[in-house]
Amino acid sequence: MDENSNLYKIRHSMAHVLAQAVQEVYPKVKLGFGPPIETGFFYDFDFSEEEFSEDKLKEIEKRMRKIIGRKQEFLYSETDLDGAVAKLEELGEGDYKIENVRNLHSRGVEKFSFYENGKFTDLCEGPHVPDTGALPAKAFKLDRVAGAYWLGSEKNKQLTRIYALCYETPEELQEFLERRRIAEQFDHKKLGKELDIYHIDDMVGKGLPLWLPNGTAIRDEIEKYANEMEFRYGYKRVSTPHIAKEELYLTSGHLPHYADSMFPPMEVKEHDNDECTEKFYLKAMNCPHHHLIFKSRPHSYRDLPLRYAEYGTCYRYEKSGELSGLLRVRCMTMNDAHIYMSLDQFESEFRRTMEMYKEFYDTFKLTQYSFRLSVRDDSEKFVGDPALWAKAEALLAKVMDEMEIPYYIGEGEAAFYGPKIDIQFKNLMGREETVSTIQVDFQSGDKFDLKFVDAEGDDQVPVIMHRAPLSTHERFISFLLEYYGGAFPTWCAPVQVCMLPVQESCLEYTNALADELTGDFFRVEVDNSNNTFNKKIRTNTKRKIPMLLIIGEKEVAEGTLTVRRYGSRDQITIPREEFIQSFKAEVKERKML
Ligand code: ATP
Ligand code: ZN
Ligand code: ZN
Repeated sequence: MDENSNLYKIRHSMAHVLAQAVQEVYPKVKLGFGPPIETGFFYDFDFSEEEFSEDKLKEIEKRMRKIIGRKQEFLYSETDLDGAVAKLEELGEGDYKIENVRNLHSRGVEKFSFYENGKFTDLCEGPHVPDTGALPAKAFKLDRVAGAYWLGSEKNKQLTRIYALCYETPEELQEFLERRRIAEQFDHKKLGKELDIYHIDDMVGKGLPLWLPNGTAIRDEIEKYANEMEFRYGYKRVSTPHIAKEELYLTSGHLPHYADSMFPPMEVKEHDNDECTEKFYLKAMNCPHHHLIFKSRPHSYRDLPLRYAEYGTCYRYEKSGELSGLLRVRCMTMNDAHIYMSLDQFESEFRRTMEMYKEFYDTFKLTQYSFRLSVRDDSEKFVGDPALWAKAEALLAKVMDEMEIPYYIGEGEAAFYGPKIDIQFKNLMGREETVSTIQVDFQSGDKFDLKFVDAEGDDQVPVIMHRAPLSTHERFISFLLEYYGGAFPTWCAPVQVCMLPVQESCLEYTNALADELTGDFFRVEVDNSNNTFNKKIRTNTKRKIPMLLIIGEKEVAEGTLTVRRYGSRDQITIPREEFIQSFKAEVKERKML
C-alpha cells in the first residue's frame, strides 16, 4: 500500500484510535505494534494484567467513534534515545516499545518521533490525517481477534491482535464484506464437501485427497477434453511409472536441487542378504521420464516437433502449513506435456501452444488472467549456464513481444532449470494463483544427452518446452469450484440431468428416457425418493445439477418434458426428441449457457 495515500493515513491513524480506545477500557494494557494492512489495520496488545474479553469489541468500537467525534489533532514531537525511553516509561505502555526503540537505536536510528492525539501518545513515524475528525466513523469495523507472537517469534510472548477492516467510505467497506461473504460461500473446501467432490482422510494423510465419484466425473471430463485437444494439436500420449531410481533424478538435477520438495526415497533390497539397496523416489515431475522416452529411439529433424503428453501423477512433499484443500496438495495429476524441437521451431510452437491455451480458456469461460515472465534471480537454486539462461529468457520475451501479449516480470519465480511463462488467475478474493505454465528448457537436452539428426546429417540437441495449460486436476478444479460457485457447465457436471417424475404413473416414461441417455454415456439420475415434489426440487437444486426435468402426466401424454435450468426460475416444456438433440449438442460442443 502506498504510504502517502489517503487510505494509508486513515488506516494508520485509526490504529492510534483503536489503541486509545482499548486503553480507556483496559488501563493496564501494554502496547505492541499496530500497522495498516491490505484490508484495514491491526494492533497487538498484551492484556496479561487484565482479562480481555471479545465481548468488549463493541464497546471499544463505540469509544473509537467517540474519539473520532472529538476531532483530536495529531501533534508531532521528536527526541533522542534517552528522551524516547524516558517518555515511554512515563507513558506506562509497557516494555515492548522500549525494546523496539533500543533495537532501532542499535541499527543506527538516532531520532524518535511521537504523535499525540487527545490523551494518547504513540511512538510513530506517521503519516496521519490532520485530526481524528477526518476518519471515516462508518467505514471501519473491528473484525476478529487472533494470537500473535511479539516480533513474530515463538520464543516471545503471545500478544492479542485485534484486526479491523477499514476503508475510505462505508460503501467500500460494504463491498468488501459482500465479496468476503461470497468468497466464504464459494470456498472450494466448503463446496468440495457439500457437493461430494473430494475427501481428505487423516488415515491417508495430509494433502492426499481421495476423489469421490462426483469429483472423479469432473476429472474424467476435463481429461477427455484435454486428450481431444492434444490429439488435434498433434500430441502423442505416453504413460510412465510413478517412481524411478535415484539415478534418474541425479541426471535431471532434481537431486539435490529439488530434494526438499520430494518424498524421501524408498530403499529396497531384493533379497535379505543383498549387499546393495536400490533407492527409488516418487516422481515430483514427469519430465525426466518423458526425456527417456525421447531418448529410447533415434529421431530425425523430420519427426520434430515431437510432443509427448501425459496426465501424469506426481508427488511433492509440500510443507504441511502450505497445504490447502485441493489448491496445494502432495499428490497431484498434471496436464503435462514435453515438446522436443529445434531452436528455430520454438517460436511457431510457442504460438501454437498459446492458441491452444486460449481455446481451453474460452471453453471454460475464463477471462481474468495475466502473464508473468518468471525469470531467475541470484539465488543458488537456479542451475546451469548463465548464457543459456539469458538466451532462454530473451527468447520468451521476444516471442511474447511479437505476439503483443502483455506480461510482467517475476524475478526469482523461474523453475530451477529455466525461465517460464506463468499464467496467473485471480480467485474470488482477488488473490492470484498460478494455473498454467509454459517453460523453455535449454539444459535437459544436454543433461540427458538427447539428440536428433538435422538436415545435414549432424547430431543436434533439442530444445524442450514444458507446458501445463490445465495445471493439475487438483488446483484447476479447486479454481473452477470457486469460479463457478459449484455450478459446473453441463458437459463436465458430475450429474448432468436429474429427472423428477411427478406421479407414480410417469415412472415408466421417465426411466425409458434415463436409460436412453445413460446408454449414450450421459450422467443422469431419476429422483424417485419419497420426498414431496417441492422438496425434490429443493434438494436437487442444492446439488447444483445443471438441468432438472419435470415429468408429469401431461408431459407423458404429449411426449414432452419440462426443463428447469440451474439458476433460472423459468421452465420450458419441449418435445422429448428436441430436448435430447439440444442436450447432446450442448454437451458435445462443451457449451456454457
Ligand atoms: P508453485 O509455484 O505453485 O509451487 P511450480 O512452479 O512448482 O508451482 P510446476 O512444477 O510448474 O509448478 O507445476 C505445473 C503446475 O502444477 C503449476 O503451474 C501449478 O498449477 C500446479 N501445481 C504445482 N504444485 C502443485 C501442488 N502442490 N498442488 C496442486 N497443484 C500444483
Ligand atoms: Zn502513527
Ligand atoms: Zn516438465
